[in-house]
Amino acid sequence: MKIAMVLRKDEYTREVEQLVRKKLLQSGTYQFVTDPAADPDLVLSIGGDGTFLEAVHQYGFAPHYVGIHTGHLGFYADWRPDEIDQFVQALDEGNPVIVEYPTAECQIHTADGKTHTEWVINEIVLRNASLSTLVVSVFINGKEFETFRGDGLIVSTPSGSTAYNKAVDGAIVHPSIEAIQLSEIASINNRMYRTINSSLVLPRHHEIELIVMNPQIMIGLDREQDVWKGVRSITCRVGSRKVKFARYKQLSFWERVRKSFISE
Ligand code: NAD
Repeated sequence: MKIAMVLRKDEYTREVEQLVRKKLLQSGTYQFVTDPAADPDLVLSIGGDGTFLEAVHQYGFAPHYVGIHTGHLGFYADWRPDEIDQFVQALDEGNPVIVEYPTAECQIHTADGKTHTEWVINEIVLRNASLSTLVVSVFINGKEFETFRGDGLIVSTPSGSTAYNKAVDGAIVHPSIEAIQLSEIASINNRMYRTINSSLVLPRHHEIELIVMNPQIMIGLDREQDVWKGVRSITCRVGSRKVKFARYKQLSFWERVRKSFISE
């Protein structure tokens, strides 16, 4: 089995990585690769959720992913550093359950006529590049829905619904549901301006189009964030491809939610 590793850059993570590498090499059937072109079968992320996001953007849709968290329980990482022996044993035994998580796909259309296609596993975030109001006309399936004025908009995936989306009171969506969710960040609602002021969950094949009125905006794509000039519109839908997780131990999505937000 070809394994690639993506690590958070800290001393403790490096120590955990050395130990995992040593134990896997002792079992003898693993080859370590460092390049997406080497087509790893498994990508092991060691760190936090951010490390996991980095891993999936680096290695894409082909491999299976598994995570060891070196901080608090991560949403995308199943294993603790004190479980390395069990982890290596589970890998030796094989037969993981493969769980597929939906992505969101978006096309960013700019004033120079270009279209940039991006995908995310957590969310795309739109904010104004300055502190002034973001103004966006929201179209759903080609029909005008509302004009949003406020701090920002989030289009999240089901697995991203527990991240930024949750912080703005969006719903938590089980990743077996192929959907995207549009959530508001601090919308202006008064006698002049009105938005729905609730999160909207849209199924596969429905499309959100965001017509941007600001000359420059901040766009966040999972971990990446950039100021974009001359964005005309952004269209978002459920992604055509999914990210594949190798689950070597059972921890249901709802248990993960409880352990992360209520109590261990
Ligand atoms: P970071 O280190 O600041 O991470 C923020 C937190 O988000 C961490 O606690 C991480 O564990 C958690 N997180 C990430 N993905 C998650 C998920 N799918 N479910 C539950 N929690 C999740 O930043 P980073 O490592 O660069 O991660 C980027 C992510 O941070 C973004 O995708 C966004 O979702 C999240 N974020 C959250 C807020 C907020 O909650 N107000 C604000 C900005 C960004």
